Amino acid sequence: MKKSKLLIVLFIANIQILFAQNPHLTGVVKISVLNGTIESDLEYSNLPKLNNYSIWLNAGLNLRYFRDKEDKFNYGNIKYYDDEISNEAFQYYFPDLENKGRFLPEKFKINYVGKFPVISDTLKANNRGDWKGNIAFNGKNIRASEQTAWYPIIYDIENDVALNKVTYDIIIDCIDCESIYLNGSSPVKGKTANFKSDKPISMMLFAGLFDFTKNKNTYFINTDLNSEQEKVLGNWTDKIVEFYENKLKIPYGNSVTYLYTTPISKRNAWMFVTYPTIAIIGQESYNVKSYFTPNTNSLKDNSNIEYFAHELGHYYFGTVIVPNSELRWFFLEGLTEYLALQTVKDVLGEESYRAKIDTYLKETKDYIPKSLATIKNSEIDETYRYYYVPLLVTALEIEVGKEKVWNWLRTVLKSEKLIKTDYDFFKSTLIYSGIKESEFKKFEENYILSEKAKENVKKIVK
Ligand SMILES: [Zn+2]
Repeated sequence: MKKSKLLIVLFIANIQILFAQNPHLTGVVKISVLNGTIESDLEYSNLPKLNNYSIWLNAGLNLRYFRDKEDKFNYGNIKYYDDEISNEAFQYYFPDLENKGRFLPEKFKINYVGKFPVISDTLKANNRGDWKGNIAFNGKNIRASEQTAWYPIIYDIENDVALNKVTYDIIIDCIDCESIYLNGSSPVKGKTANFKSDKPISMMLFAGLFDFTKNKNTYFINTDLNSEQEKVLGNWTDKIVEFYENKLKIPYGNSVTYLYTTPISKRNAWMFVTYPTIAIIGQESYNVKSYFTPNTNSLKDNSNIEYFAHELGHYYFGTVIVPNSELRWFFLEGLTEYLALQTVKDVLGEESYRAKIDTYLKETKDYIPKSLATIKNSEIDETYRYYYVPLLVTALEIEVGKEKVWNWLRTVLKSEKLIKTDYDFFKSTLIYSGIKESEFKKFEENYILSEKAKENVKKIVK
């Protein structure tokens, strides 16, 4: 009896330690989707003790002040830009008294404003140039993911971790909106809403003129689907999620929210995830309705299921573990694409699987991949991420067996949060998960270190 009580106390203490590290954000954010403005008056609390950190804030936002928790004085701050760390944000820190180091109070206030181009007419819009990290005003809505740093984000330099998951109690006040959605909460009708989350979450904001529906547990935001079409999409989602849960043995958590909106460029069309939101961005001809044969409830083809498999996989590589360091893109995009490949085989079948492998082979035909052992994160380009990595891991799978690869993926996902996902991590997790040292050596020699690494990968995968 006593023992179990002690255990419960320890358990609760552990939970508190876990939660104590999540920054808490409160305050008011005022928006106009027609003027392209953001005005924020926020307070950050529950901040971790860090002396090697920066505070990210989107480069289009102008700081009014950083201020102490009692509202008595402003903090002096140093501002800089480093696009290797964040392309989107300026970085700030508070110098300590001797001006030698950085100090972070447990709590501070921050106030800032910004005005962004509203691109409602694509006639003069750029062909491309919209991306997840863009604060996008398309004339009807604002779309701002955590990557934009539309809210201040604490970056732990030591561990290369951006603490973008926060608990919040925030009022969004949007003068010309009909609806507002803040990731982690249900969407709300109205010009103003108070959103609260006790669970730490990456804040993606979507507000403006849009409708939303709820089908079972899934929200469909601005997707304009009928309820049968929603069911079709929901069923595919369930199938994919079930496959992942089965293989990775980690429950998926919340049901996803689908969100559609147009880009502020002529041609960008893509999907991204800020869990649990899956955002689909594209001009009207690429909207979610376009996945269906006109006036029916059946999908035109399964190509979008493949994209959804990839995006849903980002719950694991992107949320459960947030890769960083030299192999960030290998783990974040490469392994997610490998997961999607496995899903395609399971839910769509062998033919779709082969077609996907053929695409990877075609896309890497003239590509000269650098060795995974020495590649720098910035060198892991799109071809490497989306086409070469899934081939490389497929070669591993053929060499050591599928079960061992699943074991490895589970090991990676269960590693501690502050670990650096570099080549040492790649190697040590493979060994730890049960791949023999000799098996690894052979794989490394043939497919990573060899002059003919790519040829060897292609040969075995074909
Ligand atoms: Zn991805």
